[in-house]
Amino acid sequence: MIAGAKMNVQRVTILGSTGSIGASTLDVLARHPERFRVTALTANSQSERLFEQCQRFQPDVAVMRDPVAAADLRERLARAHLTSIRVESGPEAILTVARDPSSDTVMAAIVGAAGLLPVLEAVRAGKRVLLANKEPLVMSGHILIEEARASGAVILPIDSEHNAIFQCMPAGYRTGEAPTGVRRILLTCSGGPFRTLPTSELSRVTPEQAISHPRWEMGKKISVDSATLMNKGLELIEACRLFNVVPEQVQIVIHPQSVIHSMVEYHDGSVLAQLGNPDMRTPIAHALAWPDRIDSGVPALNLFDIARLDFEAPDPVRFPCLQLANAAIRVGGTAPAILNAANEVAVSAFLDHRLHFPNIAVIIEQTLQTLPASSDSSLEAILHADSLARESAERLIVTVGERRRSQMS
Ligand code: NAD
Ligand code: MG
Repeated sequence: MIAGAKMNVQRVTILGSTGSIGASTLDVLARHPERFRVTALTANSQSERLFEQCQRFQPDVAVMRDPVAAADLRERLARAHLTSIRVESGPEAILTVARDPSSDTVMAAIVGAAGLLPVLEAVRAGKRVLLANKEPLVMSGHILIEEARASGAVILPIDSEHNAIFQCMPAGYRTGEAPTGVRRILLTCSGGPFRTLPTSELSRVTPEQAISHPRWEMGKKISVDSATLMNKGLELIEACRLFNVVPEQVQIVIHPQSVIHSMVEYHDGSVLAQLGNPDMRTPIAHALAWPDRIDSGVPALNLFDIARLDFEAPDPVRFPCLQLANAAIRVGGTAPAILNAANEVAVSAFLDHRLHFPNIAVIIEQTLQTLPASSDSSLEAILHADSLARESAERLIVTVGERRRSQMS
């Protein structure tokens, strides 16, 4: 930039600001007040957390999905004399801020399928969309990519692996394009907390054990997904959608140190990798500033401390979710949406102590068997499949629970 020239302030909306990605995003934004301004924050029901963020970042508008939590937030803001911050509530209000022209950048950090319509809204409005929320891509990535092409929206991946792959793509590459010269994508995976646990012990693992990830601090749902490796299955589908490759071109590589965040292999034999400490502020800062580079607050990588990098193939017996995701993307149509919905329901049941850990995969597999996928991959068909799969997975969980109780009695 020319010395003395004024930089345009980038106006940022964060969908899901009270979560793990939301908090990391605010941490990066706070380091660059001259460059970014927070225009809107949204959350599900954590009014106290959103209030603290409102106090600190003073957005124009704060949205809570839950109206009771919104009333609480309004009261807290009034008591703190922060009445200039508008408070809205409900899913419609989240859609409104997602498309609002007063921001140019939207961080999509809601968890699960609940983020699909807000992401779509931001894409249709032609924003720079920083996409952490991988489930909408799994369900309907082709629609998001097409809509981005039509509106001029720029989708930048936040998932650390996909952000790494994006960084290793040829210069000028845009998500959704078929990359030239690329042979394969090497998608790395830490292996999660149960990589070496004897398989006979998997049925006894608790939600608390499953959410304590060895390398990353994340929300509960993605932490369980990382323990079953469904996260990597979802990421395989995410990679195919974002980088226009077929599943055969994506190899999953277990890399327990989580230092290489993924790699791109070219036809000439070159393999480009992106390395860094496992901290989501790096991909977030990368996408916020792209194509510039800014400080993220992440300490420099010390290769002497790391000393070695290990790689191994994933164990398909220990981690059946990988195979289920692989099969779903090959079937196509509504199959990835069914897989995703069944997983969300099963993970939530596991977190509520209603399902044993290995049964997460069983419920997903049975849901996929019960509900044949449709080749219609319109938004309507996908949303319909999502809701049928949720009902079906809930019923199967009840059946599994009843069977267990009758075996015990
Ligand atoms: P989280 O559970 O910590 O936060 C989720 C956020 O979404 C919260 O602000 C919550 O209030 C909001 N939310 C939840 N349900 C909602 C609903 N129905 N309507 C509106 N808002 C709702 O989750 P996270 O770990 O930050 O993950 C967010 C997304 O980013 C997920 O899709 C995850 O797969 C992806 N991701 C996360 C990480 C990570 O390190 N945490 C890494 C890569 C990708
Ligand atoms: Mg990831």
